[in-house]
Amino acid sequence: MGHNMGAQMERINPTGIPRSELVWALGQTRLVSQARARDACLLCRGPGVNEAGLCRICYSLLSDEELVLARRWLAGVGP
Ligand SMILES: [Zn+2]
Repeated sequence: MGHNMGAQMERINPTGIPRSELVWALGQTRLVSQARARDACLLCRGPGVNEAGLCRICYSLLSDEELVLARRWLAGVGP
């Protein structure tokens, strides 16, 4: 019982990361770079990702907190 996250979060889930991990993932240069290189959205693995590694649909669903981080990527600032 209880959640066991953290211990097994080293490798990215092939079907995309859990939404709850997105804030964390946007701080991981390697994950964002991989998503962009593969053109596979961090969340849904869909194509057409932007500089933040997110597809247009997922990007439109970001919370304020997530958007702040994603915009840093779009602006070329990085994590
Ligand atoms: Zn997506």
